[in-house]
Parts: sequence; C-alpha cells; structure tokens
Amino acid sequence: MSNKMKAMVLDAPMQYSVKEVDKPACPERGLLVRVIACGLCGSDLRTLKSGHKNISLPWTTGHEVSGEVMEVGTGYRGQWKLGDILAIAPVVYCGTCEFCVAGRYELCDNSRELAQHWKGGFAEYMALPEEALALGTIQKVPEGLDPIIAAVAEPASSCVNAQEKGQVGLGDTVVIIGSGPIGCIHISIARARGAEKIIVADVSEDRLKLCEPFGPDHTIDASKVNLVEEVRRLTNGKGADVVITANPAGQTQVQAVEMAKKGGRILLFGGLPHDNSKPGIDTNLIHYRGLHLIGTTTFAPRHHLMALSMMASGRIPGEKLVTHVLPLESFAEGVDLAVSGKALKVVYKP
Ligand SMILES: [Zn+2]
Ligand SMILES: [Zn+2]
Repeated sequence: MSNKMKAMVLDAPMQYSVKEVDKPACPERGLLVRVIACGLCGSDLRTLKSGHKNISLPWTTGHEVSGEVMEVGTGYRGQWKLGDILAIAPVVYCGTCEFCVAGRYELCDNSRELAQHWKGGFAEYMALPEEALALGTIQKVPEGLDPIIAAVAEPASSCVNAQEKGQVGLGDTVVIIGSGPIGCIHISIARARGAEKIIVADVSEDRLKLCEPFGPDHTIDASKVNLVEEVRRLTNGKGADVVITANPAGQTQVQAVEMAKKGGRILLFGGLPHDNSKPGIDTNLIHYRGLHLIGTTTFAPRHHLMALSMMASGRIPGEKLVTHVLPLESFAEGVDLAVSGKALKVVYKP
C-alpha cells in the first residue's frame, strides 16, 4: 500500500489546495480509518478564511466524518473491528473534570477536538487516537444509514442538545431564526419532539426556499416584514413558546426576546462575532415576562447517538440536508456553494 494520500491542506488563510501528503500512521492503541465522507461546516469556512487559535498552519481540517476501519493499532482495546463503518464527530472530553464526572460532557473544562488537536478528515485517511476512541464521540453507523449522511450527525447532535435544554415539546409554537442547515435540522427535531407550529425566518428568500423540504408551517422573509410583529400575528398576539436563534446576527437575539410568549424559552444557539456580542437585549422583558434565556453549545455522546438514530429513522431527513456530494478535488467548488448559500450541506468523498 502506498504511504501517500490526497488531502486538503490549508497553507495560509484563503490558500488551500488538494495535494499529496504522507498518509498518517495508525496510532498505538488507536485506529486508522479510510474516510468515506467529510462534511463542510461553517466553522471550516471561518478557519479557511482566518485560521483558528487551536491550529498552526499548514493544516488539514474536516470534523464531520464517516470512515471505515482499515488498521487497528497495537494495544487497541476498544470495540471496533476492521471493516466497521464509524460516524466520527470531533469532540474529545477529558473524563475527569467536575462536568464530565457529572455526565454533563458538553460543559467539559478540557475538551479537545479532532481536526484541531489531531489532523482532520478532508483526506483519504484519518488517524483516530486512543483518547478520541475512549472519551470521544465516535459511534458505529446504524444499520441502513448511508455513511455520507452519518458524517453530518455532528451538527445535528448540537441541535438535539439545544432542544433538550429548551424542553421543546408537545403543542409548542417554535420560531427558528436562520434557515441554513442548522435551522433545517432544528425544524425536524422540533417536529419529532411534538411541536405544533414551526415558523422559520430568514433575511434571504433563497435560503428560505432551501428549508421548504423540511416542512415548516410558516416562513417569514424578515427582509420584507417586521419579524416580531409577524410572529405575534401568527400566534394570536401571544408570541412563541420557544425561539431558537440559528444565525450569527445579534439583532435576532434582541428580536427573539421580544417575540417570546410569557414564560417562553429563548435558545441562543448561534454564537456572535467576538467583537460584537453585546446586542442590547431588553432584560426587563425577561424579568416581567418570566422568560428563560438559555445558551447551548456542542453536545454529549448521547446526543450524537440520538442524532444518528434520528437520521437512521428518517426523523432528521439527512438526504434532504446533504444537497451536494463532491470529490475532494472539487474542494473549492464546494466552498463556493456553501459561501453563496446555494447548498445546505456539502459533503466530500475523498
Ligand atoms: Zn461542524
Ligand atoms: Zn471534562
């Protein structure tokens, strides 16, 4: 077997190419997988543009991966075998901090990520270190689930965690602000949890069209109407039980608080730019209306398992989410599709 492989290498911000590099060795007590699919994430786009504090260039990113076990390292003691098809999400917990000990892995003090501390999946092969196998988010792809779809269980895992924290449930009216891939996943999870009315808002008509296959009850083009008033109109003046911000615009957090029903929950799912993260929320509304403002980020292993099972059962329709499957050589084309908003999820097959 050749000891070279193809990989996307980021040499400097906005300078990346697919080239031949050394194939990684199978780590001791770890595994080597052949990458079947690797999804392109919004965070990859940010890293391509301006690097990332946890990585030094040149580097290979890609953290939404599925792969086949090709080699088993000496001393490996885990449950996977040669030929197993794995869904590989990137988070690796420490297992010893107070949050891990309490089972609240998503709050781990010392979590690390595949594709940051170890090289990522925009490559033909990927090494899985012992830590990631023991304390990470790696599962066997469920029977009947296409590995290409299993690769994008990672973003769905964060959405499962968010809606669990927000207790989305039977009869709820849920507003989702942002109709990108995350917004679409939130539609499906809210429906599965029993939401009655799901309203999706965006400022782009094209993006709103992309979420239609997920079956929202209403869509609102917030570039054309007053979003808060429109939500009130659709809810008999009461507002929404749950509002999820799935975008990086601070103004939508302000609006989310304004459109929530008394006693409602606001899930701040999308982070804001670091230099612009104080959007001016009217906290009197939170006080007098008894609102719950909830921040969520990442996920625990059980959320990843749940996301995979929801994809296998079709409750999260991954085939509608993955709009483009491209060879790794077409990496730049996929980036263009994602940046332009023409694609929901772009997945590469190295
Ligand atoms: Zn991601
Ligand atoms: Zn921890």
